[in-house]
Amino acid sequence: MNYKTILEEIYKSVQPFAAKGKVADYIPELAKVNPDRFGICLNAIDGAVYSVGDSNERFSVQSISKVFTLAMALSVKGESLWARVGKEPSGTAFNSLVQLEVERGIPRNPFINAGAMVVADILLTSFDNPAERLLDFVRALCGSSDIRYNEQVARSERETAYLNAAIANLLKYHKNIECGVEEVLRLYLLACSLEMSCRELAKAFMAFANHREEFRYAGIELTRSQIKRMNAVMQTCGFYDEAGEFSYLVGLPGKSGVGGGIAAICPMRYSVAVWSPRLNSKGNSVMGMKALEELTTMTNESIF
Ligand code: GLU
Repeated sequence: MNYKTILEEIYKSVQPFAAKGKVADYIPELAKVNPDRFGICLNAIDGAVYSVGDSNERFSVQSISKVFTLAMALSVKGESLWARVGKEPSGTAFNSLVQLEVERGIPRNPFINAGAMVVADILLTSFDNPAERLLDFVRALCGSSDIRYNEQVARSERETAYLNAAIANLLKYHKNIECGVEEVLRLYLLACSLEMSCRELAKAFMAFANHREEFRYAGIELTRSQIKRMNAVMQTCGFYDEAGEFSYLVGLPGKSGVGGGIAAICPMRYSVAVWSPRLNSKGNSVMGMKALEELTTMTNESIF
């Protein structure tokens, strides 16, 4: 497969979408990002790396971090994790309070904010220093020892996190978090503030694409069956209230974030990460989604 030529073609074909969508501005620090950035990087199963555009520039991964935190929680809790968080698509916005109230504090899945807060609570009760362990894990996954949180982004989000605070309080009311509300919010927002490039994200996601390799990174281990299940949750719940549309147009398991990043995998073929900050109304990157649709169409490689 000539991925290099394909990525160059994609770069051209997404240009008509360059001005479409809007940067997430509900997190003040994210509103400062240059909206015209675009990068894409693909890691092939044979180890070759292909990239185009701003693929080495780090950005705020936001909800893509929910994949890493889920992997850690699953490694310590196994199947018992699913007693506290579901694995069904939510069909509502990622920060919806209504569903959480109706379902009495059990979040629909680990990729909506409420679910990721339960996961953060599990990490707080399972690891001595969960923030450090998460960094170690992500650094090992992508092979970059200088991956960091952007504390300024985390702080800026905390100052306006009225809805996330309400979610954390509702979880606490329903006794689905053990730690304090503030502690859970802090770890949750810190994880969201991780900064990575497309190149680093694609490398990190290769661990979920390559079923032949053992999943063991910085002391976090998953079985093959657990990786299969993580990929299933990415497929059904990874794209906000647009997982069906993403499945239809792209056909890959993955996860998006409001920083404009999307990371996805084609099992035993490739992992790919794309970044463009302008989002559609559901919170997914406009150019990113288009680029991945082109990728699976041009390569004829998706899970379907
Ligand atoms: N930190 C963001 C929030 O909690 C993450 C949103 C996202 O990327 O989905 O609203």
